[in-house]
Amino acid sequence: MASITLNNIVKKYDDGFPAVNNVSLDIADGEFVILVGPSGCGKSTLLRMIVGLEDITSGELQIDGTRMNEAAPRDRNLAMVFQNYALYPHLTVYENIAFPLRLAKKSGGLNGSNGDSTGGANGGSRGRSLGGAGGGSVDDRVRKAAEMLELTEHLERKPANLSGGQRQRVAMGRAIVRQADAFLFDEPLSNLDAKLRGQMRAEIAQLQRRLGVTSVYVTHDQTEAMTLGDRVAVLKKGELQQVASPRELYEQPVNLFVAGFIGSPSMNFLPATLKEGSAGAVGAGGSGGAVLSSPIGDIPISAEKAAVAKGHELLMIGLRPEFFEDAQLVDEAKKGKGAVFTAELSHLEWLGHEQYGYIEFEPDEKVRRLLSDLAAEMDADELRPQVVTTLSAESRVRPGQPTDLWVDTSRIHIFDPESGENLT
Ligand code: ATP
Repeated sequence: MASITLNNIVKKYDDGFPAVNNVSLDIADGEFVILVGPSGCGKSTLLRMIVGLEDITSGELQIDGTRMNEAAPRDRNLAMVFQNYALYPHLTVYENIAFPLRLAKKSGGLNGSNGDSTGGANGGSRGRSLGGAGGGSVDDRVRKAAEMLELTEHLERKPANLSGGQRQRVAMGRAIVRQADAFLFDEPLSNLDAKLRGQMRAEIAQLQRRLGVTSVYVTHDQTEAMTLGDRVAVLKKGELQQVASPRELYEQPVNLFVAGFIGSPSMNFLPATLKEGSAGAVGAGGSGGAVLSSPIGDIPISAEKAAVAKGHELLMIGLRPEFFEDAQLVDEAKKGKGAVFTAELSHLEWLGHEQYGYIEFEPDEKVRRLLSDLAAEMDADELRPQVVTTLSAESRVRPGQPTDLWVDTSRIHIFDPESGENLT
């Protein structure tokens, strides 16, 4: 019912530079899609074009299959939940939630008796009942929404007397009573402290599933993206890099940018060259002796991965911190899937449930240049010549001495350093 389709959407501001460049995306009815990327990648612009706060330079926006480029915001029947909640400070929670209904009533757009959609152009035909908050009088609808959001006991309070999370819920209440065809969220949690953010994240996820309403959510936080979305669209400099489920993004990132953006701590990138048929590598897992020679040592790889790496003079390999483990804690069955190498940890961070072990390496000039190019590509200030490993809390490894580490070579990613493309 409320699908959103973007076809080759471009946005150029006055400077002529495309803030959004040729983005195509199909958002299904009821789907929860996250737009994620670093600051300035164009995610807010994209959202604002969907809701009608920004003109579309070229391309087509469809809602339920109807072209909406020229439609006024109110005729799109979409509800936007902003970072600053946009609540009226002089109104109570009740009045804030009721506000869109009263506004619609005044302008004649709301059919209060059957609770149809507020948007004049789309009324009735696209209205839907959101988890029961839809039908009935304004009072009924506000109270049902408040109940859903556990705000009933706060209905008479003013926003100043609410916590950040409660304000957030009031903002969502306004979207719910409007029976909008889709919710659009613009970094709604970025003003909250970490604990509340986690709590609200879970609430939004549950509420969205319960209501089944199409939602588009903008964030620069990859944890929010991974935990909230059915699908995640990763943007970089106005261009869509990959649209996929959180699991697919994590397991099969299409390029260096997505690989580095998704996952925490971030994927380690190491320049490497392929050496075939070399002896001495440990636990090659039936590789026939192919190894990737890297600044932290030779990493044996399977024949399959070696085939991918062939023909490239220089490669960039990607190893997530969680691919590593203290070799002493890895059972024999698992050991065969990867390889053991010896490294010295410069320092360890013990987090209780796990620990981060850091391996530092001395880059030569070529590697230094590669890392700096990669940092620019990743929009990072710098990429330190180090590898972060996630080790079990039980591990008794010590920094400053040779340590046997196991690495799951079956999950290694191999990238073309020029194009950034994931070859594996
Ligand atoms: P953030 O997370 O920092 O909000 P974003 O990914 O949402 O970033 P946008 O706000 O969409 O990015 O901005 C995309 C690009 O468009 C940026 O380069 C920005 O400077 C530019 N931009 C945004 N709004 C305008 C405007 N009104 N006029 C000119 N350029 C703009």
